Amino acid sequence: MSRVYLNGQFLPLAEACVPVLDRGFLFGDGVYEVIPAYGGHLFRLDAHLDRLGASLAAVRIGNPHDREGWKRVLQTLVDEAGPGDCSVYLQVTRGADVKRDHGFPPPEVRPTVFAMASPLHPPPRERLERGASARVMADIRWARCDIKAITLLPNVLLRQAALDAGDDEAILVRDGLALEGSASSLFIVADGILATPPKGPALLPGVTRDLVLELAQSHGRPWVERDIAEAELRCADEIWLTSSTREVTAVTRLDGVAVGDGRPGPVWRRMADWYRACKAALRSGEECP
Ligand code: PLP
Repeated sequence: MSRVYLNGQFLPLAEACVPVLDRGFLFGDGVYEVIPAYGGHLFRLDAHLDRLGASLAAVRIGNPHDREGWKRVLQTLVDEAGPGDCSVYLQVTRGADVKRDHGFPPPEVRPTVFAMASPLHPPPRERLERGASARVMADIRWARCDIKAITLLPNVLLRQAALDAGDDEAILVRDGLALEGSASSLFIVADGILATPPKGPALLPGVTRDLVLELAQSHGRPWVERDIAEAELRCADEIWLTSSTREVTAVTRLDGVAVGDGRPGPVWRRMADWYRACKAALRSGEECP
């Protein structure tokens, strides 16, 4: 594996160590980002850094780097990862104090900053063509799901419950509304219109979600941000889940029942083409859309 970044240094993974009193380890007190890079170009980097800044501000951790500083660190990891596609994981915690105490540590405790690049294998074509299966589950997370916090125990349990049921992802429902997946944003197609829940504290503002809406807009495909009732989810013509690493995946079975005719739908097909073109443009250094 190429070198990782820890607190100002690039070093081999085996040498990257954090103290056991780090608040990320003790409390899950930190935030993170996952950013794909295609052909050496970080995808939607500014949007990811904007969201990182918002997450850090929301949990009152000072941003350890300015934008240029982040770009230098992340691009170094991407360059060292070699020619293939990769995804960069970065995490900032509130740092390591000398004792375990819920209250914030004194100001001299600096945040712990860790980042690494891993090979990214986009979903194979036949998997995309088959689509994914999802299970509806009660959202057991907290009231600030807009913060990309490393505290992911509910998401972990929900994803595992879906896997245990033989499905790929959990779609989370709160107060009768379908919100998002355990690690993905949610779209439906109903009456020919693409719909996704509006941003707010109940869900993560997905970077891929925004790109999908921009692609819909630029290709004249009608879309709307609105609440999606669980009942509507169950009779949608198409359901998609999106994320930086899973891209745009059609859900073809929901709770064991076929979505539409049980195959990825025609609107998904078009969006998948637009998304692929977007990645290709980025590889040749162009903007998209
Ligand atoms: N919603 C949740 C809960 C997530 O964890 C993720 C990604 O990890 C997403 C949505 C999708 O976000 P993005 O498109 O920025 O990867």
